[in-house]
Amino acid sequence: MGLTIGVDIGGTKIAAGVVDEEGTILDTHKVSTPSTPEGIVDAICAAVSEAGKGHDVEAVGIGAAGYVDDKRATVLFAPNIHWRHEPLKDKVEQRVGLPVVVENDANAAAWGEYRFGAGQGHDDVICITLGTGLGGGIIIGNKLRRGRFGVAAEFGHIRVVPDGLLCGCGSQGCWEQYASGRALVRYAKQRANATPENARILLSLGDGTPDGIQGKHISDAARQGDKVAVDSFRELARWAGAGLADLASLFDPSAFIVGGGVSDEGELVLDPIRKSFRRWLVGGRYRPHAQVLAAQLGGKAGLVGAADLARQG
Ligand SMILES: [Zn+2]
Repeated sequence: MGLTIGVDIGGTKIAAGVVDEEGTILDTHKVSTPSTPEGIVDAICAAVSEAGKGHDVEAVGIGAAGYVDDKRATVLFAPNIHWRHEPLKDKVEQRVGLPVVVENDANAAAWGEYRFGAGQGHDDVICITLGTGLGGGIIIGNKLRRGRFGVAAEFGHIRVVPDGLLCGCGSQGCWEQYASGRALVRYAKQRANATPENARILLSLGDGTPDGIQGKHISDAARQGDKVAVDSFRELARWAGAGLADLASLFDPSAFIVGGGVSDEGELVLDPIRKSFRRWLVGGRYRPHAQVLAAQLGGKAGLVGAADLARQG
């Protein structure tokens, strides 16, 4: 199969891209994300039609945040869009006249990294995406593992702290409450409150108050050596690395790939993740260690991965 289209549904933009067999994006078309569930379906179809103009496209892969069923057709539940048992595959197929595969967005991103990014050459890869929350993907034996019902790899909602912080999912102590972009902001606010003298750079980038701290301020301040910002990244990394050690106990991969906006900071966050991973890896002195690698495709991983999954059929 030749060209396919991958679709990434973001909070502000929906992107459709024509992708070739090497994972190269040949053409993209972006539209604003509408506010209604039906509007989003319309926008996906419009973006696919526009991106595909002038290309001989054979299939479409859509990465959607949420639970996607085992047939890769229906979004069972989406946290940010009011999709409940939404038959997305059927709706889009009818409109664009091409075969459609729907995939969880973190799974799609994991597949993109495995095929064309940091996971190349590995057969067994576990991906985590440190974005606003924490997503994941499982590739074992060169196959994307989706579970019996299609909803595996929701690592962000493993409970790591009994009776811990309340999570948006309704549970308490979920991993993503401790290792995610949202957690990073919380750490920075707490530390800036407790020791403002160590957060001078960080506080100068926002409105001067701990409450005004945003994720981008923490990244900028950390690069300038702000102690609170750097320590906040380290705290996040401790939780992330400890969780990877648990995932090694479950999956024994040869590589972990860390993606998402938080991982854009590179070694600032990856180095302490590796340290924490080694610290908590059971039997670490007597077993091979998985590599902990930074994702390579950035924000394109989901689109490229969805397109490739559509190609594989
Ligand atoms: Zn949760």
